Amino acid sequence: MKTATPRKKALVTGGSGGIGSAICRQLANDGFHVVVHANRSLEAARSLAGEITAAGGSAQALAFDVTDAAATSAALEALLEDGPVQVLVNNAGIHDDAIFPGMQLRQWQQVIDVSLNGFFHVTQPLMMPMIRTRWGRIINITSVAAVAGNRGQVNYSAAKGALHSATKSLALEVASRGITVNAVAPGIITTPMSHDSFDASAIAQLVPMKRAGRPEEVADLVSFLASERASYISGQIISINGGMI
Ligand code: NDP
Repeated sequence: MKTATPRKKALVTGGSGGIGSAICRQLANDGFHVVVHANRSLEAARSLAGEITAAGGSAQALAFDVTDAAATSAALEALLEDGPVQVLVNNAGIHDDAIFPGMQLRQWQQVIDVSLNGFFHVTQPLMMPMIRTRWGRIINITSVAAVAGNRGQVNYSAAKGALHSATKSLALEVASRGITVNAVAPGIITTPMSHDSFDASAIAQLVPMKRAGRPEEVADLVSFLASERASYISGQIISINGGMI
């Protein structure tokens, strides 16, 4: 494992989930101190942080609900006492699909709340400390649904599409401070989230490469965007979807 001294701190929201876990492992391998975030699955986050530490990396677990502004603010304030977060991966997300005429207000609000309001609750308090360091990376995990649209996901694609616009505007605001802001838009990735939505024949039909992506493939892209090598890439929506669009 490479070591960066002192290690920059990377917070991965939804680090307890399928894609988030792979991102945490990769960023730890890249030499970051990784804050593995969870909401309900704190035990999973603790176990991953333990696995990273046992492998010679550096990690801690942290739980809060990104839709709860006060709880998020309190948790981040405590985290910032040990220094700034310099890599933020906004990965926490849910979907709750329904064809639009049948979509309930609750489904609309919850999906927007986690992806979009969660983005504000987490990102905004971390900005000034990051700006003061004159180096940072913000990577928003969005979706092909926001690039191409998807039936039954008006709420989800609206939330993720709004993150694309937020990515571009925030990138402009912080470009002169050594901070890049990008979105990574995955297609179908093998995790519990996608498991119920797509069977093998649907994947063969939808994906030119005829397979789902692996969380590690998304993590590799995030790793690159978080690195020095990606210093001149900002305000971009980068798809990773086996050629879907
Ligand atoms: P998972 O369901 O495996 O993980 C979702 C993560 O989000 C969990 O860690 C969960 O925490 C966290 N989370 C959910 N709600 C909240 C909340 N209110 N507050 C804080 N954290 C919350 O999903 P994936 O790994 O598949 O997805 C990760 C990201 O990638 C999501 O943003 C998703 O939209 C996006 N994506 C996924 C695709 C796929 O095919 N899998 C395709 C395109 C995009 P906990 O479990 O601890 O409650």
